[in-house]
Amino acid sequence: MTTIERLLEVQEQDLMILRIETEMQDIPARKARELERLQSHKAAMEEAEAGVQAAQAELRQHELDVQTKKDQIDKLRTQQMSLKTNKEFKAMSDEIEALERSIRRDEDREIEIMEKIEASNGSLREQRSALDAEQKEVDEDVKVFDERAGALREELDRLREERKALLDGIDPAWLQRYEAILQRRRGAAIVSCANGVCGGCHMAVPPYQQHEARKQLEMVICGYCGRMLH
Ligand SMILES: [Zn+2]
Repeated sequence: MTTIERLLEVQEQDLMILRIETEMQDIPARKARELERLQSHKAAMEEAEAGVQAAQAELRQHELDVQTKKDQIDKLRTQQMSLKTNKEFKAMSDEIEALERSIRRDEDREIEIMEKIEASNGSLREQRSALDAEQKEVDEDVKVFDERAGALREELDRLREERKALLDGIDPAWLQRYEAILQRRRGAAIVSCANGVCGGCHMAVPPYQQHEARKQLEMVICGYCGRMLH
């Protein structure tokens, strides 16, 4: 076997290793995207829950206001009995009526708020069950990602071990050059120059280089992209 043929075997192994490394690098980001999506739905629900709580607080405030106004009316009615003049009596009646009108407004508003709370609670229940379902899905996906990462790690260890055996006896100068190109390209370092063009950059390869590359005795490097030719 020529050095190039042996390096091509190493390259085959290296390209598999690169593919696995790339997939492994993507896993944390893919997991993060899943969790982020879940987080944004959780945040939306928390906001809706806060809205319901605010409405409940407003409702309680109206109820307190109504009670205060009712107490005030009772007090006015008691005072009214001891009044001497019609004018005073009338003024207090007006005051009571104004309070009663205000109570009706409060109560109308209470009904509106209660209806709003009821509607929000309904949609919250739906959101919560959708979120629970989504949480299950995300948990499942995360589990799949973790299992995949584990399998890839094992595969990577196996390929790296196999690679070591392939290196035995390869000219160190060629190997070093090959590895440098592979690192820089993060892809194929050795390409063919079929039809007179470099298989990496598709530029024309001079005839003498094509000839040398076919013989596979000397290291032939593409003048444009720096890849090794065979
Ligand atoms: Zn090239």
